[in-house]
Amino acid sequence: MADIILTGDRPTGRLHLGHLVGSLNQRVEMQNSGKYDQIFIEIADAQATTDNAGNIQKVKNNILELALDYMSCGIDPKKSTIFLQSEVPELSDLTFYYMNLVTLARLQRNPTVKQEIGYRGFKNSSIPVGFMTYPISQAADITAFNANIVPVGDDQLPMIEQTREIVRTFNRLYGETLVEPKAVLPENKICHRLPGTDGQAKMSKSIGNCIYLADTPEEVEKKVMGMFTDPNHLRVQDPGNTKNNPVFIYLEAFSKPKHFEKYFKNEETGELEYKNLDELKAHYERGGLGDMKIKRFLNYVIQDTLTPIRARRAELEKHIPEVYQALFEGSDKARKVAAETLLKVKRAIGLDYRSDYELINSQIEKYNQDLEEKKTRKY
Ligand code: ATP
Ligand code: MG
Repeated sequence: MADIILTGDRPTGRLHLGHLVGSLNQRVEMQNSGKYDQIFIEIADAQATTDNAGNIQKVKNNILELALDYMSCGIDPKKSTIFLQSEVPELSDLTFYYMNLVTLARLQRNPTVKQEIGYRGFKNSSIPVGFMTYPISQAADITAFNANIVPVGDDQLPMIEQTREIVRTFNRLYGETLVEPKAVLPENKICHRLPGTDGQAKMSKSIGNCIYLADTPEEVEKKVMGMFTDPNHLRVQDPGNTKNNPVFIYLEAFSKPKHFEKYFKNEETGELEYKNLDELKAHYERGGLGDMKIKRFLNYVIQDTLTPIRARRAELEKHIPEVYQALFEGSDKARKVAAETLLKVKRAIGLDYRSDYELINSQIEKYNQDLEEKKTRKY
């Protein structure tokens, strides 16, 4: 079986550090490994309309932002097919048929959807039906490209599970047709769900607790210095908690040995003040290490991470027509694949009339027979 990857993002804002460690880094690595037969990256603009029906301009504006973010992180449209969901209407057809394979109760149990309803402040009476059913449309996105590998953050696990259920139900009812995908999470567990700068469980565009890849150095510094830490660590000498402390979580996600070498080296002795994160954590936990000092270090680490991304973005910003061109070409390519899957799906269900000669012939026969019967019938 071919190894095919599908991933994507909603164009509801620019990409942030959570995307970088939760999914982008992994995509780039997979892309450059040459081990995968095809990589599809979807800009899920249609899905983004499910909770932004009154704000389509936001979705439209962010398509380019997302494409620039992808490419500045190393996604290469020559190696990965970047496409726009709304340019592939076959996905909506697939969604329509899959909707019949999922119950309302099953959708309502989806923990990520429940959490997102909370984040968005939806009341029972204000949840758009499209929003409620977006896990089904994600199943269409994944299966349309026969993807077996989906690199995601852990908030997406219920979506992949929903897709797997749809695939199994479909194949049981209509015969072996769809490929069952599996989610691939980042190796570093801390990257499965990066918290927000405010300490909330997830950095998310819709919450606005993000450090964006395209933030200026000044914006990054301001956000890092204002980050939530341990609220009980009031004085430098107080023992601090590193467990639910986003500053330390970000250090786990981003700091590398080279950062300790660069920022904790004593110029005169050549000694490292802290050799690694464990030493830094231990000092914070026993007391005597101030928030400002670790935040300053984190700022350096994040700036170092973002500097090459910013530089590539600045270059890409001079070539906007080419970026759009890549999106449209990618969309044409994606559409061809999705159309083949849709045909396969409709044939499996039995809704492909144009080549269903058995059906048409049997009906011709039936009506001919009727005609014969009428001719010979005695009243
Ligand atoms: P929205 O708030 O509009 O849903 P988002 O910030 O959740 O936006 P998505 O476009 O929904 O971003 O997610 C795209 C991908 O990035 C998914 O695979 C998701 O799991 C991953 N991702 C998003 N936020 C994080 C995070 N904080 N940590 C790790 N992975 C993340
Ligand atoms: Mg999301």
